[in-house]
Amino acid sequence: MQIPCTAREKELFGCVAQAARQIGVPCYLIGGFVRDKLLNRNTKDMDIVCVGDGIALAHGVASLLDPAIKVNYFKTYGTAQIKYKDIEIEFVGARRESYSENSRNPEVAPGSLEDDQLRRDFTINALAISLNEADYGQLLDPFNGRQDLADKIIRTPLDPARTFSDDPLRMMRGIRFASQLHFTIHPDTFQAIKDNAERIKIITQERITDEFNKIMLSSKPSIGLDLLYQTGLLKIIFPQMVDLVGVETVEGKGHKDNFYHTLQVIDNISRHTRDLWLRWAALMHDIGKPATKRFEEGHGWTFHGHDAVGGKMVPRIFARLKLPQHESMRLVKKLVELHLRPISLTKENITDSAIRRLLFDAGEDLDSLMMLCEADITSKNKARVKRYMENFELVRERLKEVEENDRIRNWQPPITGEMIMETFNLKPGRVVGDLKSAIREAILDGEIPNSFEAAYQYMLRKARELDLTPVK
Ligand code: ATP
Ligand code: MG
Repeated sequence: MQIPCTAREKELFGCVAQAARQIGVPCYLIGGFVRDKLLNRNTKDMDIVCVGDGIALAHGVASLLDPAIKVNYFKTYGTAQIKYKDIEIEFVGARRESYSENSRNPEVAPGSLEDDQLRRDFTINALAISLNEADYGQLLDPFNGRQDLADKIIRTPLDPARTFSDDPLRMMRGIRFASQLHFTIHPDTFQAIKDNAERIKIITQERITDEFNKIMLSSKPSIGLDLLYQTGLLKIIFPQMVDLVGVETVEGKGHKDNFYHTLQVIDNISRHTRDLWLRWAALMHDIGKPATKRFEEGHGWTFHGHDAVGGKMVPRIFARLKLPQHESMRLVKKLVELHLRPISLTKENITDSAIRRLLFDAGEDLDSLMMLCEADITSKNKARVKRYMENFELVRERLKEVEENDRIRNWQPPITGEMIMETFNLKPGRVVGDLKSAIREAILDGEIPNSFEAAYQYMLRKARELDLTPVK
C-alpha cells in the first residue's frame, strides 16, 4: 500500500477486498480519501468505487464486518454508505456520465474504472488505489494527479470549461480545495471558472453555502475568498462583499481597501478560533461601510454608523445565503453592531458606567467581541499594532475590574416587569417597559446602586412622575 494507514483502515481494506472477490467485482479506493492520505491529512471518509454493483458490495462488506451494521443506499444514484466505528465508507459503482446542454443531471451508465476517473472533478480527486489481488495497493493515476499533489495544483482532468459547465458546483469545490490545501488553481482551470462563473446560478443556495462555509473554515480563508472575488463568483453569490473592494481618493486622501482589510481580519481571527460564526462576524464586521462612506471636507473619509447599518444587513444576508436565522445570526449581528465599542473605551477618562454598559450589551459574548476587535487591527506599522494591543489589554483589565465589582455580564435588573405590573396593577405595555428600562439605565449609569432596595425606591420615584400609585 502506497499510503500511510492505521490498523483499522488495513482491516477495512481487507474486508472490502474479500467482499469484492466474493461477488466478483474489481474495487478501488478513490477520491478524497486517497488524496488526503497522500497528503498525510486526517480523513474519516473512505471512498470506494467498484466495477459493478456498489450497493451489493456495501451489503457484502457490512455482513463481513458486523451484520448489525446498517447500509444506507440510494438506488437511483447507485451509491451506499456504511459507518464502521469512526469511519464512514462510501461505495459507488463505476460509471460513465454524460451531460446534455440543458439538463443539470447527467445521463449515467455503468462504466470502467477509467470512465469513473474521468467524471471526477480534479486530477487530485481522481487517484485510485487497487484493492484487487493482482495489483493490490497499486496507485492508478491516469491524469498525473500525484504530480499535481506534489506541485500543489488544482486542475480538471478534462477540458475545464466542459467540467464546470456540466456541474458548476465544481468551481466552488476547486476554490475550496485551493483554500483548504493552500494549492494554486492552474491558469486554464482558473480561466474556465471566470468564463463559467454565471453558471453557478443553477446550483442550489444550500450547496453553494456549504462550500462557502468550508472555505470560511479553512486555515486561511482569505485564499478562497480572494479567489471567489478574482473569478467573479463572489459578485454573484455575495455582492455586498464585492462592494467593499477598492480605494477612492479625494483631495489626495484615500481610505483603506475594505475588502482586503476584511480578508486580513478573517485570517487573524482564524488563528484564534475555529468557530464558524466568529469567522462570519469578521467577514461582516465592515459590511456597512460602503453605504455609510462620506468624504468630509478638511477631515477625510468617514464611515459613521457603519456598525449599526452593518448589523441591520446581517439578517437579510443570512436569509439570502440560507444561513441559520436564529442564534448564530443574532451572534453575528450583535458582534457587528458592537465591534467599535471596545475601541471607544481605549480613550482616556473612561467612566465605569461606559464599561458597565459594554459588559451589559456584550454579555456572555464579551470574549468573542474582544477577539474580533483584536483581529480588526491590521496596521502594517508594528509600533502602532503594539500600542493598539496594549490599549485593548487595558480595556480588558478595566472590564474585568468592573465585572468583579458589579457582576454585570449575566446580569438582570433586580426589578422585573412582573414586579412592576403587580406593584401598580398594570397590564403589559409601554409604561411597564419604560419603567423597566429606566431602572436598568439608572443602574448602568451608576446613578443608583445595583440593589433591590435602591431599584425599588427609584421605581417608586419614577412612577410618581407618571402619576402612578402603588396598589400595596
Ligand atoms: P471532502 O470530503 O473534503 O469534502 P472530497 O473530495 O472527498 O472532499 P466528497 O464530496 O467526499 O469530496 O466526494 C468524494 C469524491 O467524489 C471526490 O474526491 C471526487 O472524486 C468526487 N466528486 C465529488 N463531488 C464531485 C463533483 N461535483 N464532480 C465530480 N466529482 C465529484
Ligand atoms: Mg470526502
